[in-house]
This record gives sequence, structure tokens and C-alpha cells, in this order.
Amino acid sequence: MPTAPQLSIVIPIYNEQEALPLTVERLRPILDGLDVTYEVVGVDDGSTDATPVLMQKIRQDWPEFRIVRFARNSGHQAALTAGIHRAFGDHVVSIDADLQDPPEKIPEMLSLAREQNLDIVYGVRGDRGTDTFFKRHTAGAYYWLMRKLVGKRMPNQAGDFRLLSRSAVDALKALPEQQPVYRMLVPWLGFPSGEVVYVREERVAGSTHYPLSKMLRLALDSITNFSASPLRLATWLGLLSFLVCIGLAVYTTVEYALGSTVPGWSSLFIGMLFIGAVQLVCVGLLGEYVGRIYSAVQARPAYFVGYDSADDESEGRA
Ligand code: UDP
Ligand code: MG
Repeated sequence: MPTAPQLSIVIPIYNEQEALPLTVERLRPILDGLDVTYEVVGVDDGSTDATPVLMQKIRQDWPEFRIVRFARNSGHQAALTAGIHRAFGDHVVSIDADLQDPPEKIPEMLSLAREQNLDIVYGVRGDRGTDTFFKRHTAGAYYWLMRKLVGKRMPNQAGDFRLLSRSAVDALKALPEQQPVYRMLVPWLGFPSGEVVYVREERVAGSTHYPLSKMLRLALDSITNFSASPLRLATWLGLLSFLVCIGLAVYTTVEYALGSTVPGWSSLFIGMLFIGAVQLVCVGLLGEYVGRIYSAVQARPAYFVGYDSADDESEGRA
């Protein structure tokens, strides 16, 4: 077992053949310039392009670059999970492979954590100017909702560019989450934290792997993973519909007393529709939770590791 490095960099990588070389080019001098021992854990999330070959090449002349490869595409959060779980460093920084998170901020994060003895340093997006209108607004709505669920502890616009101390990593590892959403779990830990503001740059090359479907999945995961608020919302909706029903009942009775019974149709109809809608919403929410219970009961791992270059090393040494 090699001695633990002082710093681990975790990079989830999925079909990044264009962006990865540029990322390595910019990241390496920064890490080499830091006066710490480090490792880079590149988690290949089942890439289907030239990324795996490229990663082997990178490793050949950069021994600090470790490769963890998934047997199939398991998603960004699963790749992050694998990287964070397998990192050995005293501090672990997660960063995207497309240079949207500037690696120049890593030294700042590390010195802030060390100086103030912080367990978490969030990279907070100061400006999303380069993101599309759509991304900015969906992200805005997402963070608004997440902060409602997790509370003010969750910094606004903090994505997955962040530093974690060994104790924060150990705490996260102890959680039995099947589908962890770190941007919520990390603030939820409540460990001492700080922030480093950065400008979210444009993707250097390639295109986003977060289509609307994956964004919605993340949003749903974030909500159901995290709180019973949606169930409470269902209860509130139920109460509201109850009140509306009482109102309608009073209205219908009055109409009846006045002798004009026929016009009751519309209110009946609205009432029926409303109750139907509320029931559907509730059933949908229950379905989300039942789905999660189901996946927890199945205890399927979030990922399958096909290869980890660290295993090679320990074999060689044995
Ligand atoms: N990624 C991944 N698995 C996926 C999708 C994305 O590991 O299924 C990685 C991707 O290579 C990148 C990071 O997650 O390093 C963020 O993805 P992307 O840049 O596509 O998302 P965006 O920045 O557009 O939200
Ligand atoms: Mg990106």
C-alpha cells in the first residue's frame, strides 16, 4: 500500500477525447507546482470513444495519473462516487474534465482549507455568462429548490467542483446512499466550510453529456434522495383540495337552496378534475419513493469497476 498522497484530484470522464488532453495540459503544471504529493484519479465512466486509450497514454508519462474504468456508463454522480471512494489523499478535489472548472483555483482551495482547517471548500460560480440562457435558468431553479430542501447551508451555485478533507470523505463513505447527490449531501454534513468564487468557463471541446433527460434525472434524484418534503407537499395539496371541496360544497348547497340546481355541473366538473389531478400528483410522488425503496432493497451498486490501475501497482509490489 503506497503512502497516502496529500492531495487527490478526482475527474469524472465520459467521452472526453477532445477535452481531456487540454485539461491534462493545464492541470499538470499546476499540480507539479504545488509543494504536495498528489494523485489524479481519472474515472472513465464507460467511454465509447478514444478516451480509454488516451488515458493509458496519459498515465504512461504521468505516473500520478490513476485510471479507474467503469464497465459501462453509470453517470456523472456514480463516477464521482467511485473517485471519491477510491481516492487516498488527505484532501480530495473533484473537477470536471472539460475545463469548465478552472484548475488554477485548486491551490487556492487547498491553502484555504489548510489555513482555516476547513473540511469543505466549495467552488462557487460567480458568473454563468457563458452558459446558455436555458442552462442558466434551469440551474437557477434547481439551486433555488435545493436550497429550500437542504437549507441555507447549501451555497448557491456550487456544483461539483469542491475540496473535501479526509474526514468529510470518510463521512460520505459511511453513508449507505445508492445514488448520492454530492452537491446536497456535502452541505448536509454540516462540516466547517469555505468558498472560492470562480467563473464558469465554456467547455473547451466536445459537447455536454447532460441532456435534458439527465438534468431532470439529477433534479428528481436530488429531491427524492434528500427529503420527505415532496410527501409533505402531497399532504398540503391534499389539504388544499379538501378546503376547495368544502368551498364547492357550500356553493352547491347555496345554489340548491336558491333552486337553481342545474348550473352545479361546472363546479362538480372542476372538483372532479381537481381531485383527480391531486391524486395523480400524489401517486407520482409515492411512485418516486417506492422506486427508491425498491432500488435500495435490490442493493445494486452505483457502478461496476472493471479496472483500477492502483491494483496493478500493489500486485507489482507484492
Ligand atoms: N460525465 C460523466 N458521465 C456522464 C456524463 C458526464 O462522467 O454520464 C462527466 C463529464 O466527462 C464531465 C463532467 O461529468 O467531466 C460534467 O459533464 P458535462 O460537462 O457533460 O456536463 P455540464 O458541464 O454540461 O453540466
Ligand atoms: Mg461541462
